[in-house]
Amino acid sequence: MLEGRNFRLTERRRVILEALRGSTDHPTVDDVYIRARSRLPRISLATVYRNLEEMAANGLVRKLAPEEGARRYDGQMAPHFHVRCTGCGAVADIPCTAELGRLVRELETGCETDFSIGKVRVEWLGKCPRCRGASAADGGASSGRSVVPKNEKPGVTGVKEKGDR
Ligand SMILES: [Zn+2]
Ligand SMILES: [Zn+2]
Repeated sequence: MLEGRNFRLTERRRVILEALRGSTDHPTVDDVYIRARSRLPRISLATVYRNLEEMAANGLVRKLAPEEGARRYDGQMAPHFHVRCTGCGAVADIPCTAELGRLVRELETGCETDFSIGKVRVEWLGKCPRCRGASAADGGASSGRSVVPKNEKPGVTGVKEKGDR
Protein backbone atom coordinates (compact mmCIF):
# COMPACT_ATOMS: atom_id res chain seq x y z
CA MET A 1 0.00 0.00 0.00
CA LEU A 2 2.67 2.43 0.98
CA GLU A 3 5.42 2.90 -1.48
CA GLY A 4 6.95 5.79 0.33
CA ARG A 5 10.28 4.17 0.98
CA ASN A 6 12.08 5.81 -1.86
CA PHE A 7 9.81 8.78 -2.31
CA ARG A 8 12.11 11.59 -3.28
CA LEU A 9 11.67 14.94 -1.70
CA THR A 10 12.52 17.11 -4.65
CA GLU A 11 12.88 20.85 -4.27
CA ARG A 12 9.38 21.36 -5.59
CA ARG A 13 7.95 18.95 -3.10
CA ARG A 14 9.92 20.52 -0.30
CA VAL A 15 8.58 23.97 -1.16
CA ILE A 16 5.05 22.61 -1.40
CA LEU A 17 5.45 20.75 1.86
CA GLU A 18 6.75 23.83 3.63
CA ALA A 19 3.81 25.83 2.33
CA LEU A 20 1.57 23.30 4.01
CA ARG A 21 3.47 22.61 7.20
CA GLY A 22 3.85 26.30 7.91
CA SER A 23 0.12 26.81 8.13
CA THR A 24 -2.94 25.34 9.71
CA ASP A 25 -5.47 26.76 7.29
CA HIS A 26 -5.83 23.66 5.13
CA PRO A 27 -5.16 25.34 1.81
CA THR A 28 -6.72 24.39 -1.47
CA VAL A 29 -4.58 23.50 -4.46
CA ASP A 30 -4.89 27.11 -5.61
CA ASP A 31 -3.70 28.42 -2.25
CA VAL A 32 -0.70 26.10 -2.25
CA TYR A 33 0.06 27.10 -5.80
CA ILE A 34 0.08 30.80 -4.91
CA ARG A 35 2.42 30.17 -1.99
CA ALA A 36 4.73 27.86 -3.90
CA ARG A 37 4.91 30.27 -6.81
CA SER A 38 6.46 32.96 -4.66
CA ARG A 39 9.47 30.70 -4.28
CA LEU A 40 9.32 28.78 -7.54
CA PRO A 41 7.94 31.28 -10.03
CA ARG A 42 7.82 28.78 -12.86
CA ILE A 43 5.90 26.07 -11.12
CA SER A 44 2.51 25.29 -12.64
CA LEU A 45 -0.81 24.60 -10.99
CA ALA A 46 -0.87 21.14 -12.53
CA THR A 47 2.54 20.37 -11.04
CA VAL A 48 1.44 21.52 -7.61
CA TYR A 49 -1.67 19.40 -7.87
CA ARG A 50 0.21 16.31 -9.01
CA ASN A 51 2.82 16.63 -6.29
CA LEU A 52 0.20 17.18 -3.62
CA GLU A 53 -1.58 14.03 -4.68
CA GLU A 54 1.68 12.07 -4.70
CA MET A 55 2.64 13.34 -1.29
CA ALA A 56 -0.81 12.50 0.05
CA ALA A 57 -0.49 8.98 -1.36
CA ASN A 58 2.85 8.66 0.40
CA GLY A 59 1.60 9.89 3.72
CA LEU A 60 3.47 13.19 3.81
CA VAL A 61 0.33 15.28 3.80
CA ARG A 62 -3.31 14.62 4.44
CA LYS A 63 -5.96 15.16 1.85
CA LEU A 64 -9.32 16.51 2.90
CA ALA A 65 -12.03 15.79 0.42
CA PRO A 66 -15.20 17.28 1.80
CA GLU A 67 -18.55 16.44 0.30
CA GLU A 68 -18.93 20.04 -0.73
CA GLY A 69 -16.37 22.60 -1.69
CA ALA A 70 -12.81 22.40 -2.77
CA ARG A 71 -10.38 19.69 -1.89
CA ARG A 72 -7.92 20.81 0.75
CA TYR A 73 -4.62 19.63 2.07
CA ASP A 74 -3.20 19.41 5.55
CA GLY A 75 0.46 19.36 6.50
CA GLN A 76 -0.22 18.64 10.15
CA MET A 77 0.05 14.91 10.55
CA ALA A 78 -0.61 14.60 14.27
CA PRO A 79 -4.08 13.19 14.94
CA HIS A 80 -6.73 15.85 15.00
CA PHE A 81 -10.24 16.54 13.77
CA HIS A 82 -11.71 19.21 11.57
CA VAL A 83 -14.51 21.72 11.67
CA ARG A 84 -15.64 23.11 8.34
CA CYS A 85 -17.41 26.39 7.72
CA THR A 86 -20.60 25.90 5.76
CA GLY A 87 -20.36 29.51 4.60
CA CYS A 88 -16.92 29.83 3.04
CA GLY A 89 -15.49 26.33 3.27
CA ALA A 90 -12.69 27.26 5.69
CA VAL A 91 -11.39 24.32 7.69
CA ALA A 92 -9.92 24.59 11.18
CA ASP A 93 -8.39 22.01 13.46
CA ILE A 94 -9.97 20.50 16.51
CA PRO A 95 -7.36 18.89 18.74
CA CYS A 96 -7.76 15.22 19.42
CA THR A 97 -8.18 14.95 23.15
CA ALA A 98 -8.08 11.62 24.92
CA GLU A 99 -11.81 11.73 25.31
CA LEU A 100 -12.53 12.45 21.65
CA GLY A 101 -10.09 9.74 20.63
CA ARG A 102 -11.93 7.30 22.85
CA LEU A 103 -15.26 8.32 21.38
CA VAL A 104 -14.09 7.78 17.83
CA ARG A 105 -12.61 4.39 18.67
CA GLU A 106 -15.97 3.54 20.11
CA LEU A 107 -17.63 4.61 16.88
CA GLU A 108 -15.25 2.40 14.95
CA THR A 109 -15.77 -0.70 17.00
CA GLY A 110 -19.17 -0.26 18.57
CA CYS A 111 -21.44 -0.35 15.56
CA GLU A 112 -23.43 -3.36 14.43
CA THR A 113 -22.77 -4.09 10.80
CA ASP A 114 -21.52 -6.86 8.55
CA PHE A 115 -19.10 -4.45 6.99
CA SER A 116 -15.54 -4.42 8.15
CA ILE A 117 -14.98 -0.85 9.22
CA GLY A 118 -11.81 0.71 7.91
CA LYS A 119 -12.17 4.11 9.43
CA VAL A 120 -14.70 6.54 10.71
CA ARG A 121 -14.72 10.08 9.46
CA VAL A 122 -15.85 12.73 11.87
CA GLU A 123 -16.33 16.27 10.68
CA TRP A 124 -17.92 19.15 12.48
CA LEU A 125 -19.84 21.75 10.52
CA GLY A 126 -20.40 25.31 11.55
CA LYS A 127 -19.78 28.98 10.81
CA CYS A 128 -16.29 30.42 11.06
CA PRO A 129 -15.77 33.71 12.95
CA ARG A 130 -15.51 35.66 9.71
CA CYS A 131 -18.75 34.34 8.28
CA ARG A 132 -20.46 34.79 11.62
CA GLY A 133 -19.30 38.38 11.73
CA ALA A 134 -20.37 39.00 8.15
CA SER A 135 -23.89 37.75 8.69
CA ALA A 136 -24.24 39.61 11.97
CA ALA A 137 -22.88 42.98 10.93
CA ASP A 138 -24.02 42.87 7.33
CA GLY A 139 -21.46 45.54 6.53
CA GLY A 140 -20.03 45.00 3.10
CA ALA A 141 -16.52 46.03 4.01
CA SER A 142 -14.74 42.85 4.80
CA SER A 143 -11.37 43.59 6.26
CA GLY A 144 -8.29 42.01 4.89
CA ARG A 145 -8.27 40.55 1.48
CA SER A 146 -6.95 37.05 1.57
CA VAL A 147 -6.19 34.33 -0.89
CA VAL A 148 -8.85 32.12 0.55
CA PRO A 149 -11.24 31.61 -2.33
CA LYS A 150 -14.90 31.97 -1.76
CA ASN A 151 -16.21 28.54 -2.35
CA GLU A 152 -19.62 27.88 -3.61
CA LYS A 153 -22.14 28.48 -0.93
CA PRO A 154 -24.70 25.77 -0.64
CA GLY A 155 -28.17 26.98 -1.20
CA VAL A 156 -27.33 30.35 -2.64
CA THR A 157 -30.30 31.95 -4.27
CA GLY A 158 -30.03 34.17 -7.25
CA VAL A 159 -27.60 32.02 -9.14
CA LYS A 160 -27.45 33.27 -12.66
CA GLU A 161 -29.65 31.09 -14.74
CA LYS A 162 -29.96 32.76 -18.04
CA GLY A 163 -31.15 31.27 -21.22
CA ASP A 164 -34.38 29.53 -20.43
CA ARG A 165 -35.59 28.60 -23.79
ZN1 LIG B 1 -16.62 30.91 6.86
ZN1 LIG C 1 -6.03 19.80 10.05
